[in-house]
Amino acid sequence: MTIRAALFSLALALPTGASLAQSSGPPVSAGVPHALARQRAHALRQVAYTLHLQVPSAVAQPIAATEKIVFRLLENAAPLQLDFKASPTQLQRLTVNGRPAPLTFEHEHVLIAPALLRLGANELALEFTAGDMSLNRNPDYLYTLLVPDRARTVFPCFDQPDLKATFGLTLTVPAAWQAVANGPLADSARTADGLRKTCRFQPSDTISTYLFAFAAGRFRHELQQPGGRPMHFYYRETDSAKIRRSMGPIFDIQAGALKFLQDYTQRPYPFQKFDFTAIPDFQYGGMEHVGAIDYKASTLFLDDAATRDQLNARANLLAHETAHMWFGDLVTMRWFDDVWTKEVFANFMADKISVVTQPGGNFNLKFLTDHYPAAYAIDRTAGANPIRQPLDNLQDAGSLYGNIIYHKAPIMMRQLEHLMGPLAFRDGLREYVRRYAFGNATWPDLIAILDARTPADLQAWNRVWVNEPGRPQFSYQLHTAGGKITQLTLTQKGEDGSARAWPQVFSVALVYADHVEELPADMRAASLRLRAAEGRPAPRYLVFNSAGEGYGIFPVDARMLPHLAELKKPVMRAAAYINLTENMLNGRAVTPAQLLARLRPLLAHEPEELNLNLLLGQVTDLFWRFTLPAQRPVLAASLGPQLWRAMQQVAAVNEKKLLFKAYAGLMLGAETQARVYEVWEKRQPPAGVKLSEDDYTDLAAGLALRSYPGYNAILQTQLGRIQNPDRRLRLRYLRPALSDTVAVRDAFFAGLADAKNREKEAWVTSALGYLHHPLRAATSEKYLPQSLALVEEIQRTGDIFFPQSWLQATLRWYQTPTAAATVQGFLRRHPDYNPKLRAKIQQAADPVLRAARLTPAGAK
Ligand SMILES: [Zn+2]
Repeated sequence: MTIRAALFSLALALPTGASLAQSSGPPVSAGVPHALARQRAHALRQVAYTLHLQVPSAVAQPIAATEKIVFRLLENAAPLQLDFKASPTQLQRLTVNGRPAPLTFEHEHVLIAPALLRLGANELALEFTAGDMSLNRNPDYLYTLLVPDRARTVFPCFDQPDLKATFGLTLTVPAAWQAVANGPLADSARTADGLRKTCRFQPSDTISTYLFAFAAGRFRHELQQPGGRPMHFYYRETDSAKIRRSMGPIFDIQAGALKFLQDYTQRPYPFQKFDFTAIPDFQYGGMEHVGAIDYKASTLFLDDAATRDQLNARANLLAHETAHMWFGDLVTMRWFDDVWTKEVFANFMADKISVVTQPGGNFNLKFLTDHYPAAYAIDRTAGANPIRQPLDNLQDAGSLYGNIIYHKAPIMMRQLEHLMGPLAFRDGLREYVRRYAFGNATWPDLIAILDARTPADLQAWNRVWVNEPGRPQFSYQLHTAGGKITQLTLTQKGEDGSARAWPQVFSVALVYADHVEELPADMRAASLRLRAAEGRPAPRYLVFNSAGEGYGIFPVDARMLPHLAELKKPVMRAAAYINLTENMLNGRAVTPAQLLARLRPLLAHEPEELNLNLLLGQVTDLFWRFTLPAQRPVLAASLGPQLWRAMQQVAAVNEKKLLFKAYAGLMLGAETQARVYEVWEKRQPPAGVKLSEDDYTDLAAGLALRSYPGYNAILQTQLGRIQNPDRRLRLRYLRPALSDTVAVRDAFFAGLADAKNREKEAWVTSALGYLHHPLRAATSEKYLPQSLALVEEIQRTGDIFFPQSWLQATLRWYQTPTAAATVQGFLRRHPDYNPKLRAKIQQAADPVLRAARLTPAGAK
């Protein structure tokens, strides 16, 4: 039993509606309504928290806590609402300005009557049991993850980003544990019984509640001082090869990112200290807690089998969270409707930083492959959301997160930088950081700063790029006479048919027998006559968006198709691959089968690792999503050997590995399976390929998915091979999802209805990937109704990315009209469903609907 489950049933049992206390001021209702946040931002100043938590080692034991909150009050007409999303039974004592006060608890708020308070300085003291929901308690460690509104699940507070405060923290923990928090450790001493120790941290910098954090447990520790700044790093990794290979790059990239940001913003690192922790199976990639950043351990610790993609992801992650120190932590959004502003700058800066920390990398190619497919995956769907969305209550902030803010927003920002020029743009950001340091700002605040530095119409630009969803679809008209171009015209409109234009720059390549001319197109309206093309010789063919910066669906010149491999620039090839896929998904230019036929010959000849990765993803997708089960064995019989030969032909170690993994991912047919089994069994990869422990776990799981003879013993052996305790627990959890007995999988799925079986969200997502694998689709499609029915509860109990990852891991491979009908039926039967969650379902269901439409059986 966890307190988490109990809490929710209680919260649900509370009535909603009018409350006795709402004589004036904002009504008392669950969550943190925007009206309440605005009123408190007006009324409160100089908030400071002092907390003491007694953390026992046993996960089930409650955490006793005391708290002092001091603040100044500028108005005192209505009851003060203190957020605490917990059971009223967790509150034991309240003292207001030194006097015992009654505990009045309504709709997740402790209410304090004006008569007990005064204008000016006030002090509250509380004794309570800390809420467990966001403490991520494990037998050996725990960590907080309080974004966006979960500080209030742990302790009573004013949980809104524009009431920044200092946090003084004391933790009493088992004596063998380490602890890290926002402020530096002041001192630590054993308790009288010697079994525990009390760690006292100095007050934090002035930060928002969602950035308050600590982690404690059995962690290893590394101290390095890159660039003279001491950085403490806590981790639980045990693989000595990974540790040896990763420590240097982690600290180097971290230091490089800090230096870049100090230069770019012209503002030194603004906080007292810079420490970080690697958390096993962390829910997100990372979280930018001031002075105590958390990272997903598996992204940081890589061995010598790491691919370029993994190395990039690590560098990106480190740079992203570091960029947040300025963008998000120093200058914070006033309300979570602008959460995307901190995310876009973190990603945008991470991209710029990677130019410095990853010398020799192809920045434009990385930007293209990182952001465009991910942004399109949402923006092409019926559930596409705009970058900026309204938010009435902080409890719904989780639904704002997604690919649009992480991937479309950086694309938009790069276009904005193009529009303004990089120096004017940078100077604008410097002013933004200077003006709002240690405070809060809105997107309109930033646009006002930028607008003053450019003649362009940023308001119109803002409307289509930021406030509306969707993307443009381009078309062209080419006129030639006497072997020369007389006119080349481009037009754009919304993919939804609307007469909208997205002001943007992109390139058009004129490809000739012996050279290529790339012409810039600065398209500010619905139509553009490309004068630079006129008078030039008629090309063999055209490549639209040849440099990859343009956003939307670009036309395909059919004459290009046989020449894909001849495009010299890697970014031009990648842009062409991506654009072909977008066209295919819209039923234009190529069918899935034609696209597969065009891409296959490229596999052995794509010299750029990021492009090969992209191609393999597309080929895998075409194989599983756009090929009917009955046709897969025939296709696999030629595609499998082709991948194997390509692996033997390519020279680069990482490319070999990507091809081997794609080969193992297909693995239909006895011969292929036997070959993969031998690799796994002997731990002997094909010549030139390096595999890590995680890779071998994937191979074992793949064999189990195919009911390979003795798969149970294979999984058992793999468990024995894994040394790291956290990863062993993970595979144990996954085993029933890998069973070839339908009843075992059914029972595992049924168990997911219980929130306590969903606590490790990264594990659940992996398990769903196995449960719903195309090879299991026939027996797992029946899980879809219940999977959809659980989404609302998952949003309530899970972390912010979980509804999305749950839906995507569930739906992504289905291709049958019946699966499509299940989703559509669900949406039809729930017309009043939470609109943001409905959009998430529509986003995740888009691949199902398209596959059902585009695969031959669906097309009948
Ligand atoms: Zn972020």
